Amino acid sequence: MQETFTQLIEQCKDALKAVRDRAALEAVEIKFLGRKGELASLMKQLATLSDEEKKIAGKVANETKEKIEQMIAKAKEKIAREEEKTRADREWVDVTAPGVFPNEGHLHPISQAIQEITDVFAQIGFVSVRAPEIDWDWYVFESLNMPPDHPARDDWETFFIAETKGQKARGEKGRLVLTPHTSNAQVREMEKGKLPIRMININRTYRRQSDPSHTPMFHQFEGLVIDEGITIAHLKGVLDYFAKSFFGPDRQIRLRPHHFRFTEPSFEVDISCGACGGKGACRICKAGWLELGGAGMVHPNVLKAGGLDPEKVSGFAFGWGVERTLVMKEGTKIDDIRILYKNDLRFIKQF
Ligand SMILES: [Zn+2]
Repeated sequence: MQETFTQLIEQCKDALKAVRDRAALEAVEIKFLGRKGELASLMKQLATLSDEEKKIAGKVANETKEKIEQMIAKAKEKIAREEEKTRADREWVDVTAPGVFPNEGHLHPISQAIQEITDVFAQIGFVSVRAPEIDWDWYVFESLNMPPDHPARDDWETFFIAETKGQKARGEKGRLVLTPHTSNAQVREMEKGKLPIRMININRTYRRQSDPSHTPMFHQFEGLVIDEGITIAHLKGVLDYFAKSFFGPDRQIRLRPHHFRFTEPSFEVDISCGACGGKGACRICKAGWLELGGAGMVHPNVLKAGGLDPEKVSGFAFGWGVERTLVMKEGTKIDDIRILYKNDLRFIKQF
């Protein structure tokens, strides 16, 4: 009898060795300790023994039961520990591991340049205004000292708005055009009737052109300052400030006499070449200088068109392309200006 109990303990031990989870352990527990289990059926057999034998066998049976209970309790603890460990492993987070960054976009290089130009002029009190992109002939040409049959108007190669049924493209201020420059802001600003004027107008402009250095749609920025006693010295100071702020502190500007209809005197503004430091011997510049754009003192006829008295007030204006200015800053990164509008991410991501 005793031997049978010892065997039962050994069987239980073997069964427990194979146990890996709670369910398997429960099955072993039922098999050995359950009401219809192995131990219970052995106990039943005790009934057939004599009183003397019962005493001894009963003792062994109890010891066996205790032993099996202990073994199962131990196995339970072991499984609980393992479960705890797996849970901790699963939930463990390495806070020092590098994160996964989402793919971040940024403003288009042209938008960045517009923002930067606006900020540079805001520093010296230029207010950002926005003149219409489609405007009357009067604001685009005539008020700027370019009468209807003047040959200067041919230079612009303007897009005119077509008349359609029920939509007039002609009024008392002439025909409607897609603005070929941002100078339409000049007289519009004067008409507001407030001095001093210190404005910057950055806008889309349109011309019939498309080649490596021109696109049919591009951006210009226009500066205008009008007050009593404004001189060329102010113009030069503002342009010098812009060149140093936008391109770098070592850049110089120079004014070359030129002719525009809406300014008198007029200038072409050059900036010293950044590639050769203004020394000359270089592929990009002409003898150390790069052409930035036009500027000048506002023509008396333009002041008059804006309702101002040229005897009392004076002012200066300047304006040139945002794309061109950006190309001059970025240099060889942009060798064909049309790439700015091709939405090629390989290009755009460089900025
Ligand atoms: Zn150069």
